[in-house]
Amino acid sequence: MKVLVVEDDPRISDVLEYALKADGYEVQTAQRGREAAEIARRSSPGLIVLDVGLPDIDGFEVCRIVRTFSDVPVIFLTSRADEIDRVVGLEIGGDDYVVKPFSPRELLARIKAILRRNHRPAKPPAEDPTESQLRYGPITIDPEKFRIHCQGREIVLTAQEFKLLELLVRHPGRVFTREQVLNRAWGEGGLVTDRTIDVHVKSLRRKFGNFEFIETVRGIGYRAREL
Ligand code: CA
Repeated sequence: MKVLVVEDDPRISDVLEYALKADGYEVQTAQRGREAAEIARRSSPGLIVLDVGLPDIDGFEVCRIVRTFSDVPVIFLTSRADEIDRVVGLEIGGDDYVVKPFSPRELLARIKAILRRNHRPAKPPAEDPTESQLRYGPITIDPEKFRIHCQGREIVLTAQEFKLLELLVRHPGRVFTREQVLNRAWGEGGLVTDRTIDVHVKSLRRKFGNFEFIETVRGIGYRAREL
């Protein structure tokens, strides 16, 4: 597995390179943004660790360029609160971030978590029609029949709650901002506010009673906890 480390501070870059190599990764490094985008295009790394503050174009711009040709996971390194806000806004297309100063061990843990997530492909339902059901802990979702069971009882959801539930449990551990929930579970049209989503989340929580699986990530959004 090849990791591209983009960081203009040689002290940080060296430490990361050392830690990643010790963990068995192949490492490429870049100090500047344009160079990094070029390397990403040429050598298709399996993951990119991307500093936001770079001497030429910033990490956000690099990520935007990379996204035009690749879905490679990107972990941002950030040092300022305003950068963090933009990263967690995730319109940039990053997968995760760590805040400086951080330990190499923390970064390695994030890398492993992302690679685990990406290497667990959802089983395509077409393979076996009887397996089109989606399971998450005690919840069974049948997207075709629009039915949900939890701990032996059927749960009746509105269409919107159904979409919200499906979005969250198809991606356990992944945080969705309210904006992403809107885009992916509501689609176009309709007058929907952040508050609407909060209300639906509250209703879902109530309907699933003591199986508590929706976590609020303060200031960001919601996720289904990893079971
Ligand atoms: Ca920097």
